[in-house]
Amino acid sequence: MTEFKVSVVIPAYNEAENIEALLNRLLPVLNKYHEYEVIFVDDGSQDDTLIKLEEAHAKNEKINYISFSRNFGHQYALRAGIDYATGDCVISMDGDLQHPPELIDEMIKGWQDGFDIVYTIRKDTENVSVFKKVTSNLFYKVFSFFSGLKLPQGSADFRLMDKKVCEVFSSLKENNLFLRGMVFWMGFKQKAIPYTAEKRFAGKSSYTLRKMFAFALLGATSFSVKPLRLAIYLGLFIATFGGLFTAYVLYQKLFGGSVITGWASLMSVVLILGGVQLFMMGIIGEYIGMIFMETKKRPKYIVKKTTIVK
Ligand code: UDP
Ligand code: MG
Repeated sequence: MTEFKVSVVIPAYNEAENIEALLNRLLPVLNKYHEYEVIFVDDGSQDDTLIKLEEAHAKNEKINYISFSRNFGHQYALRAGIDYATGDCVISMDGDLQHPPELIDEMIKGWQDGFDIVYTIRKDTENVSVFKKVTSNLFYKVFSFFSGLKLPQGSADFRLMDKKVCEVFSSLKENNLFLRGMVFWMGFKQKAIPYTAEKRFAGKSSYTLRKMFAFALLGATSFSVKPLRLAIYLGLFIATFGGLFTAYVLYQKLFGGSVITGWASLMSVVLILGGVQLFMMGIIGEYIGMIFMETKKRPKYIVKKTTIVK
């Protein structure tokens, strides 16, 4: 395939100050290819992101946008962009220049070498805060443990996917989106490229601690029922322990050993069991919540306005 079309999908939430700088670096890369399109997904920004996108489209009609009716979240913005993309390969990247556009050449090379998915792995540098490094490492460990999928450490939503992979991805009907896991789970021929994350060009990260935690919890629970099984094991273990403990107390009582008559031991047992029960209920609740959300079958996003005719 010598002539092909490259699609670049960029979720943007309050990135007005970054769009021009990003395009200045991205377009020279894309101009090398026969045909391209850039699809920005304005995820309900409150700043001038949409105005900047309208300006960019007026100047260059290969730059398109999709504007959501409200903030749906990064993963949903990515999904929308991939659903709308028409290229032979689709590259997703952040709108804050943390993902160096120059890496696209290497990604496309990997794709031409026959890989269906070329993903990137963030090399930890001084540009990434210690807090982010620690929480991110922890997340990948927890995710791998629960899901059984060996999701590579530091894999980012900066990746290239072949058209056919995008079609499969778009056909997945689940509403809780965790792209990193889903893409990894889909299989195909995958290749990793390491990259050094740059500093955010302007503005600040919208991934708050609360959002990161929700994201991690979703990642861990949306891929397996292992957490439920863990609760069963834990419950079984505690119950066995309680049984042995009772047997020991009875033995002491019957054969004249000293029995602690204080309430402290009793209280601790009650507290441990209470805690375990709550913990298990929490996990079960998490799944019920997901079933609840899935049964609604709501649209994943609502497009307010787009320059793409379908
Ligand atoms: N983003 C989005 N919707 C959101 C939050 C973020 O589309 O609700 C976009 C954001 O514009 C950026 C990318 O997702 O292009 C990554 O977000 P951010 O830079 O805030 O996260 P970080 O790089 O700190 O993980
Ligand atoms: Mg960022």
